[in-house]
Amino acid sequence: MVPNSSKPTVIIIGRPNVGKSTLFNRLVGKRLALVDDQPGVTRDRRFGDAEIAGLEFQVVDTAGWEDEDPASLPGRMRMQTEVSLEGADAAMFVFDARVGLTPLDEEIARWLRGQAVPVVLVANKAEGKQGDAGIYESFSLGFGEPAGISAEHGEGIGDLFERLWPIIGEKAEGAAETLELSEEDEEALLAGPLKLAIVGRPNAGKSTLINRMLGEDRLLTGPEAGITRDSIAVDWEWRDPRSGEEREIRLIDTAGMRKKAQVVDKLERLSVADARRAVDFAEVVVLLLDATRGLESQDLKIASMVLEEGRALMIAINKWDVAEGASALFNGIREALNEGLAQVRGVPLFAVSAKTGKGIDQMMGAAFDLREAWSRRVPTAALNRWFDDALEANPPPAPKGKRIKLRYITQASIRPPRFVVFGTRLDMLPKSYERYLVNGIRDKLGFDAVPVRVVLKSPK
Ligand code: GDP
Ligand code: GDP
Repeated sequence: MVPNSSKPTVIIIGRPNVGKSTLFNRLVGKRLALVDDQPGVTRDRRFGDAEIAGLEFQVVDTAGWEDEDPASLPGRMRMQTEVSLEGADAAMFVFDARVGLTPLDEEIARWLRGQAVPVVLVANKAEGKQGDAGIYESFSLGFGEPAGISAEHGEGIGDLFERLWPIIGEKAEGAAETLELSEEDEEALLAGPLKLAIVGRPNAGKSTLINRMLGEDRLLTGPEAGITRDSIAVDWEWRDPRSGEEREIRLIDTAGMRKKAQVVDKLERLSVADARRAVDFAEVVVLLLDATRGLESQDLKIASMVLEEGRALMIAINKWDVAEGASALFNGIREALNEGLAQVRGVPLFAVSAKTGKGIDQMMGAAFDLREAWSRRVPTAALNRWFDDALEANPPPAPKGKRIKLRYITQASIRPPRFVVFGTRLDMLPKSYERYLVNGIRDKLGFDAVPVRVVLKSPK
């Protein structure tokens, strides 16, 4: 039904106004949706690439049907069977949980029961408790328990995953395998310019550092906080002293706008906002600290935001030329980082001087290495070999005498690396065991310096 796609296809079906388009948009997010222009299809159907927790599929919105006279809808649906359901791996049948079932819903249900496609019943608009009665009522349709969701508010999407996974999970995995980047593709990905952002509090020395790296006075710097210009991207080449190779860098500088701020706390808030914007663009983010001030709570806030956004983070302590008690300072900051935030354990830490240029080449080399780790996919076999060993060395607990079963692990994405662990009774799994797995992935699989996410899923 959708050319050139080995991903599973899920079609959204339902009467007008139940929230099909809203669900489509929710699942597709900002990814581009294509409009079907196949001849013979009377209405536009929208196709999009959807993803829930690493489960990737094609989603088809049949919203076009709703313009038809409802009385003729069932008839039209029968007519459309061939084009619409052909090749679909599952149908999400959406109804409005607040309204409850209408005669048209029942009609569509009857029609769907005659189709050779697995149906996932979706009770939309179920935010709060307002959909409870509708959810209850819908059991009568014979499609089992509905996934109660709110497409508008993004609630219950995990539930939807649990319904979809048993139906399309295997095919999605297969597609992911075939989509696994070849060595050449991965090289191409890594051959593009390194998208780098330098963030930090005002006066940390961001502009000075950028000027130093660019080798010319492109940005205005001075002793006052916040005199840099508006956000810009600068492309340049950096010579990697390890290989002598010229490597492309695209630097995003969003230091601007701070000049308008006068009050200190406003400045601080703005530096977080700047960082947030920079992070949208960057692969690797350097958080610059001021050695003369040490690590402040604002820095930790920026660090955790960068990691939450899934970017590769490194921290550079600037003004090392004037740092006093250098090694004690360095160790102190390392310790403070370890204590402040569990996720920043292992974040690469550098001492640099924007003024003298010391440490900058090492930092840049590390930024390229970090991007590589952040972009890496562990082969499934190696991943599961590690997983089996980890479970054997430290089996999951058995609360109330019933063992939690962890069945297998898969890497759902790169940039950042995300992993999904499948098993049963996962709600009983202690946080400490989750941390054990995350630490294992970081230490044993070479992700020690990048943010790693692990999601637990129970296929039903
Ligand atoms: P479609 O005709 O089935 O594609 O429905 P739409 O996606 O156009 O949604 C119909 C209406 O329901 C719109 O006003 C949406 O804003 C609203 N809607 C969609 N999802 C939800 C939801 O989860 N909760 C609530 N309260 N309203 C929703
Ligand atoms: P920004 O607000 O983060 O862009 O910081 P600036 O680049 O404007 O630097 C703030 C002040 O710190 C300026 O007076 C710089 O000269 C000074 N500065 C920046 N980097 C260094 C450094 O490595 N060593 C020393 N001693 N001063 C620095």
